Amino acid sequence: MRLPVPCLDCGAPQTAGSRCVRCRRANERKRGTTAQRFGPGWGTISREVIERDNGVCQLCGLPGADTAHHLEPRRGQPQARPADKAMLAAAHRRCNSRKGARTA
Ligand SMILES: [Zn+2]
Ligand SMILES: [Zn+2]
Repeated sequence: MRLPVPCLDCGAPQTAGSRCVRCRRANERKRGTTAQRFGPGWGTISREVIERDNGVCQLCGLPGADTAHHLEPRRGQPQARPADKAMLAAAHRRCNSRKGARTA
C-alpha cells in the first residue's frame, strides 16, 4: 500500500508517484517524453505489467522480463495516461534500452 505523498510541483497529496497525475503529465509534455521518470510508483506499475504479460518480454519474445516499456502513444488517445498499463508492455531492461534508438 502506498501512502499519499505531496506532489513535488503543487504539493497536493497524491499516490501517483512523486507528482500528481496532472503535474506529471504537464511535466512530461514539457520534456516531450514519456521516458522512465515515474519515481516510486513506477516499480509497482511495471511489476503488474510484467505479471500481466507472464514475464515475457514483448520486444524479443523471451521470458524473464524485468521492467516495463512504453508503447508509443497513439494520436487520438487524449486520455491515455503515461502510467496507463495499457500503454505498457513487459520487457527486458536491455531490450528496452536498445529499443530507444530505432523508431519502428
Ligand atoms: Zn501536482
Ligand atoms: Zn527482451
